[in-house]
Amino acid sequence: MKTISDRLQDVRARVAAAATSARRTPDEVHLLAVSKTWPAAAVREAAAAGQRAFGENYVQEGVDKIEALRELGLEWHFIGPLQSNKTRLVASAFDWVHSIDRLKIAERLSAQRDVHLAPLNVCLQVNVSGEESKSGVAPGEVAALAQAVADLPRLRLRGLMCIPEPTGDVTLLRARFALLRELQAQLIAAGLSLDTLSMGMSHDIEPAVAEGATIVRVGTAIFGERARPANPN
Ligand SMILES: *Cc1c(COP(=O)(O)O)cnc(C)c1O
Repeated sequence: MKTISDRLQDVRARVAAAATSARRTPDEVHLLAVSKTWPAAAVREAAAAGQRAFGENYVQEGVDKIEALRELGLEWHFIGPLQSNKTRLVASAFDWVHSIDRLKIAERLSAQRDVHLAPLNVCLQVNVSGEESKSGVAPGEVAALAQAVADLPRLRLRGLMCIPEPTGDVTLLRARFALLRELQAQLIAAGLSLDTLSMGMSHDIEPAVAEGATIVRVGTAIFGERARPANPN
């Protein structure tokens, strides 16, 4: 049986190999360990193996782990769908939110972020596959939302995030990731200062890194198959 530490090493090696074959430097790509559904003990194990940044999808579950593990000084990213009645908890407990797709949610997070904390780092989630059911702002609406979010005082807009439709078609995946990269380039050309492309999960680390990912969000390949299904977003 592989341990969390063994799997973390395997994932780091995959990221590094993908970066190298894309002629990128491996440390341009940060690994976010997605610990949703896994207990605090699993996070502790990954932290002992050197992992510092963790991603959570469910507000209360994430907040409970953050409190249980406070003494470890880890970095916490909220990556799931966010309802307005949960923004206060997220604004006070997390360091990053990847899933902003409405101005109203961003405004609440900014208003609720404690002035004694660093600004909350945020990414806009973009619906790159055009699926009706998916969360995320439409590509044509990214620029307006980005400008509005960038003006909010307690947030720091870092970049874009996407979750393409599940497919084994690597060419299609690369096109989805390339779209996110191009949208980001347009925002930068329009004057925004952005450094983050959050894309790539256990099954598509390689195409995401090839298209410029700076954060890959990896759960299963580190912690194993989840017993509870992933939040359908
Ligand atoms: C669950 C989840 C991940 C991790 O997915 P794996 O396939 O387990 O690596 C990444 N991003 C988001 C938004 C998720 O919900």
